Amino acid sequence: MPTRLQSYEAPGITVTFDPTVCTHSAVCLRGLPAVFDVRRKRWIHAEAASADEVAAQVARCPSGALQVVREPQAD
Ligand code: SF4
Repeated sequence: MPTRLQSYEAPGITVTFDPTVCTHSAVCLRGLPAVFDVRRKRWIHAEAASADEVAAQVARCPSGALQVVREPQAD
């Protein structure tokens, strides 16, 4: 099966989502609803919270469907 990895970029952080892994626990939706909202076509708005907040929420994803790549930001 081809991987349909989605990628959502914001300053300092990129969130990736693998829909083939997600178990639909809704942990992300409840934890940070401004960022994770499935009613939107591009459902992850990584810029709607700080990179640290987004990374902390992604770390709570029980399935590992969400991952982050952190990028150092210039001051
Ligand atoms: S927390 Fe992870 S497993 Fe749960 S709905 Fe979000 S992406 Fe899917």
